Amino acid sequence: MSTMICVGIESTAEKLGVGVVTDDGEILANVKAQYVPPPGSGILPREAAEHHSRELPELLERALKNAGVEPEDIDLVAYSQGPGLGPCLRVGATAARTLALALEVPLAPVNHCVAHVEIGKLAARQDGLDFDDPVTLYVSGGNTQVLALKAGRYRVFGETLDLPVGNMLDTFSRKVGLPHPGGPEIERLAEKGEPVELPYTVRGTDVSFSGLLTAALRRYKQGDRLEDVCAGLQETAFAMLVEITERAAAQLGRDEILLTGGVAANRRLSEMIHEMAESRGAEAYTVPQELAGDNGAMIAWTGILVHEHGLSIPPDEIPEKAIVKQRYRVDEASVPWAAHPSRSADSQR
Ligand code: AMP
Ligand code: MG
Repeated sequence: MSTMICVGIESTAEKLGVGVVTDDGEILANVKAQYVPPPGSGILPREAAEHHSRELPELLERALKNAGVEPEDIDLVAYSQGPGLGPCLRVGATAARTLALALEVPLAPVNHCVAHVEIGKLAARQDGLDFDDPVTLYVSGGNTQVLALKAGRYRVFGETLDLPVGNMLDTFSRKVGLPHPGGPEIERLAEKGEPVELPYTVRGTDVSFSGLLTAALRRYKQGDRLEDVCAGLQETAFAMLVEITERAAAQLGRDEILLTGGVAANRRLSEMIHEMAESRGAEAYTVPQELAGDNGAMIAWTGILVHEHGLSIPPDEIPEKAIVKQRYRVDEASVPWAAHPSRSADSQR
């Protein structure tokens, strides 16, 4: 049986990624480049897009070289269709469609949030866990969502009402003069601190971080040690996230919990999620960092699922159908493979 090879391009925000994955779920390459905003600034979408178009040719070449794949071996091209920053999304989509047209292969549009969950399930299975139908806490620079499958779609069972948690951490660190990205800096400082008390805001199944951010900045300006404020910021924000994840798991009666997104690299958050899972008799899995942050392999792998379920775009329809969706909601994405968990597990042998 011949192996299908997919090249996936991720370009929703500050990271650009190219992954090469087979239909057996083997990751042949997964390379990245990151746009770094000017000091004191957040992501400038147009500058990030320029960075991506500059870096993409070399990154693509490196991905194929690492994978040991020639262009003619590629059977499918996938791209991140959204949600994300318009200028950044368009760079990835344009490159993907040009590549697919040149190679005369189909093009698979992928929902970025679905891809985070699918690569997480694949990684969990490859680590020997039987993860079919998890509740996922997806925490990154641009997203904070609790996702689970219900009635054939991934749906949002909790989310942030204002800032994504990664953005909140990055904003705090920028305002206190720490380098970007702030999450790892805050983690490092928090390990040496005693948490200060900060406002905890959970509303039903959702969280809100702006009050926490403001209060943390105020405590720092009033003279609290940065280490202590960082510790308080982490403990409070993560406890809120754990609470809404636990609520979704309880409501849905699920016993698998997946932690993913760039913020999943945080050891304290991972520990708190595992403790919560253990207390409920559930199993938790933290997706390894190279697959948890935005990456091309997750787009390539989900592209394979999209294609296997008849949802890719044939070459002659690419020019009119290869669009981007800046506000692509996760429950708009058709995920027929996930609606039959046992079947997709079979297809991964
Ligand atoms: P992503 O958007 O998925 O690429 O993830 C990027 C986000 O993850 C940024 O907001 C980072 O600050 C955050 N991040 C990365 N490492 C850590 C960490 N160890 N602790 C907390 N946040 C982190
Ligand atoms: Mg992401």
